[in-house]
Amino acid sequence: GSVFAHLVQAPEDAILGVTIAYNKDPSPIKLNLGVGAYRTEEGKPLVLNVVRKAEQQLINDRSRIKEYLPIVGLVEFNKLSAKLILGADSPAIRENRVTTVECLSGTGSLRVGGEFLARHYHQKTIYIPQPTWGNHPKIFTLAGLSVKTYRYYDPSTRGLNFQGLLEDLGAAPQGSIVLLHACAHNPTGVDPTLEQWEQIRKLMRSKGLMPFFDSAYQGFASGSLDTDAKPIRMFVADGGELLVAQSYAKNMGLYGERVGALSIVCKAADVAGRVESQLKLVIRPMYSNPPIHGASIVAVILRDKNLFNEWTLELKAMADRIISMRKQLFEALRARGTPGDWTHIIKQIGMFTFTGLNPAQVSYMTKEYHIYMTSDGRISMAGLSSKTVPHLADAIHAVVT
Ligand code: PMP
Repeated sequence: GSVFAHLVQAPEDAILGVTIAYNKDPSPIKLNLGVGAYRTEEGKPLVLNVVRKAEQQLINDRSRIKEYLPIVGLVEFNKLSAKLILGADSPAIRENRVTTVECLSGTGSLRVGGEFLARHYHQKTIYIPQPTWGNHPKIFTLAGLSVKTYRYYDPSTRGLNFQGLLEDLGAAPQGSIVLLHACAHNPTGVDPTLEQWEQIRKLMRSKGLMPFFDSAYQGFASGSLDTDAKPIRMFVADGGELLVAQSYAKNMGLYGERVGALSIVCKAADVAGRVESQLKLVIRPMYSNPPIHGASIVAVILRDKNLFNEWTLELKAMADRIISMRKQLFEALRARGTPGDWTHIIKQIGMFTFTGLNPAQVSYMTKEYHIYMTSDGRISMAGLSSKTVPHLADAIHAVVT
């Protein structure tokens, strides 16, 4: 018999499993609102025009080779990524106290950052919001950190539990690490206001809590890259230290290229240099060095003024379509007289709406309406279109009346 015969079948990933179930459904009216990826009004995946142009440039350049990148990845990409998230005029960049390494998208950046902290930071506990993206607890536990949660979402208001958040971070041991979604919180779509961010910042700095920002949706929330990066820049402006994991999956549509970056902002340039040397020791035995193609695409776009501007327009168009889906769904429920307060659909931010539907209601909608979503009631607004909004509104109406 096989030495692996004793293995039990592992469950599907809670998020990726939704698409697997969707694919098996033969119904012509089926609707997948589980995917965390942008879809056009026609329900199709989108490759940005500006990405096509950048790839063409790369193909035409016969001098390009396929040698290994350094352990830290494509150096120009790293510099441009730091500028994109921290701002071109960032004091930390000017003072050379930021180190940036190319990693395997947002997930890889979080993992490398987590492993670095587990090895070199004096506090091994990371506080993550409740709820959060399902991969966060696993990433940080396997990185060697101990994971605790802080209150974030209030189901009764479908908004932020700001008091609970302040209490929990206030009670966290001095120096603890705190994971913060930079914008477009997943799965709730609930973000602090800038005034609330300022209070969070003050509290965290007063207790020496270490911010670890997860920036998976820069530009996707508001349509503006700078607006969505504001919370991070507030923490940089006070001169303190922090980590930030960037992903280009959503905002450049580079999902499968696995391109992202980890930046660590330090207090001094010599420290940043030593931090980078240790990051290399984390990365080398994990995957040696990162892939070249996605980072090259990003570098071509970020270095060229025209391509950059074109990107911001395409990004804004994606963000605007998502915002328009929120309005259409809200209006469709209003038109049906669906009981309950649905204003959270237009208030929440980013790719997802946390509908407030419970697992039984979700499973009813899947069975009767062939609408697929995670059991926590999270729907991807990017998976909706004007054509499918009525079907979803009918299903929600049916399930709450
Ligand atoms: N963080 C959050 C909050 C996310 O939603 C995602 C993507 N679902 C990621 C990180 C990482 O995605 P990726 O590794 O594809 O960049």
